[in-house]
Amino acid sequence: MTPLPPTMTISGTTRLLGIIGDPVGHSFSPDMQNQAIAELGLDYVYVPFPVAPANLGAAMAGFAATGVVGFNATIPHKQAVMEYLDVITPEAQAIGAVNTVWRSDRGWEGTNTDVTGFIAPLQDRAATDEKVRRCFEKPLVLLGNGGAARAVVAGAAKLGCPKVQVAGRSAEKVAAFVESWQDSPIAIQTTGHSFEALPELLPEAGIVVNSTPLGMNPNVERSPLTDELAECISPDAIAYDLIYTPSPTRFLEQAAGRGALAIDGLEMLVRQGAAALEIWVERELTAETVETMRRALKARLGLS
Ligand code: NAP
Repeated sequence: MTPLPPTMTISGTTRLLGIIGDPVGHSFSPDMQNQAIAELGLDYVYVPFPVAPANLGAAMAGFAATGVVGFNATIPHKQAVMEYLDVITPEAQAIGAVNTVWRSDRGWEGTNTDVTGFIAPLQDRAATDEKVRRCFEKPLVLLGNGGAARAVVAGAAKLGCPKVQVAGRSAEKVAAFVESWQDSPIAIQTTGHSFEALPELLPEAGIVVNSTPLGMNPNVERSPLTDELAECISPDAIAYDLIYTPSPTRFLEQAAGRGALAIDGLEMLVRQGAAALEIWVERELTAETVETMRRALKARLGLS
């Protein structure tokens, strides 16, 4: 944990933000959020709250009683916290997980800012690059079908991608994942596949997303794709790895070797945090504040 910014003061008027998790000590969010709060000169502080699953209800009651403004939820609370919320955005409902909670006159409200985080670096590039915009018009191939993959599907719908082709190692889990998007407010065609189907799927993909932990520190030599499969990625495509350490991952190196545009998971992490802070302090963050968050995160991760 990095020290609190020197300009940050805590007094009787300081408003509380934080993150619940079990464990939560490893979270990077306090570094990122407190640097931004200090830069904005706001009277808030963001702290980690270790909350065991059995204590979630008591913690929520305590937060309401002590006037906590809002908090992030991480493992294992992203689904369980939904039971305690009075209002959940349709998007978070469809994803089945909430990572950002705030108190309003309607009670506790929750949403999932991972979607905003996921699409932010794509939208940034699309603003100035026609080639990137064209990638949104093609299928998105999604490797993996876990929690983060759900935010990717919601993000693909927001980007206007025509369909998501999900490839996973368990036919049963892939089928359940695809089924979960039927009758969903998130209207995007989702189809399920095995990794064996990738030689047909990858050449047509505009965006290929790794949502598996393959390649994450310390297993940096791993990739969801063999070198042979990676050869099927189009040079015009975007390869997006949700992993943020190392950067680049093996998967991104393989894709960049093909000439594809490589995006790592760092910006997603920064932008989901920025989107949460915007909700809590009810103001849009400037590019400078987002850069402060990015710098804090990189410092914590030991990245330059
Ligand atoms: P998760 O819920 O555990 O899902 C992991 C997925 O990867 C599952 O579909 C799993 O398959 C698949 N998988 C695991 N090992 C595999 C293997 N050896 N071969 C093939 N598939 C495998 O995890 P998650 O929360 O979605 O996170 C996934 C990754 O995204 C992690 O690296 C995490 O750090 C990253 N992430 C980044 C951000 C960000 O802000 N950048 C946010 C969230 C997550 P089964 O379903 O068959 O088990």
